[in-house]
Amino acid sequence: MRFAHFVSQKAKMWGIVEGKLLRVLQGSPFGEWRATEDMVSLKDVTLLAPCYPSKIVCVGLNYRDHAKELGMVLPQVPVIFLKPPSAVIGHGQKIVYPSSSRQVEYEAELAVIIKKTIRNVPAEHVGQYILGFTCANDVTARDLQREDGQWTRAKSFDTFCPLGPFLAVDLKPDCLTIKLTVNGEIRQNSSTGEMIFPVAELVSFISSVMTLYPGDVVMTGTPPGVGPLRVGDVVSVEIEGIGILSNEVVAG
Ligand code: ZN
Repeated sequence: MRFAHFVSQKAKMWGIVEGKLLRVLQGSPFGEWRATEDMVSLKDVTLLAPCYPSKIVCVGLNYRDHAKELGMVLPQVPVIFLKPPSAVIGHGQKIVYPSSSRQVEYEAELAVIIKKTIRNVPAEHVGQYILGFTCANDVTARDLQREDGQWTRAKSFDTFCPLGPFLAVDLKPDCLTIKLTVNGEIRQNSSTGEMIFPVAELVSFISSVMTLYPGDVVMTGTPPGVGPLRVGDVVSVEIEGIGILSNEVVAG
């Protein structure tokens, strides 16, 4: 099942995706909810990112095929970093290319959305703390990442964290096709089966460092084929069972 968070007639609400329609919910998938008889058309609503994270925890190198592409040895421990919640945008919103960068790049990623507070939980038990999954784009100012050494500036510009279009629940995350296109041309095409640290291990590891709260996001790394974005591009992340997250790049 897939949930959508959206604005319809100026009200924020949740719905269940039924083809090209949304069945309106009372409540939200993060708590109690009930499906109503009300339906709205997907084309008549503005989709929002499907969560309100207190933080977005990301992992550096996490795809075997990407490590191979870069000629890097596999990490023994996940290298994690943060993106701020202020960077989040939804499907259809615009990525703003900052004037301080000359090399903004895309990174298609599977995003995990946390359901309930989790701290220090072993991998075999993290399932019950995960609400579901969405598509993410870990937009990065690569030149500033190199220049700074620290990654905060490069990863944190407003609009640098597109999430969406839907929140998919009951999805097994360990062998999903993940693709990214720029203006319809395929640039990344892999499987989440290539992950060095699979979802459960990664969430468990992060929970041994920091408490994750409902709505927090864990981004699970990107496959090979990372490359540049230009003003005017439309970049789309597609993950099997979730949908297609598309965003246009505009000048800052
Ligand atoms: Zn990334």
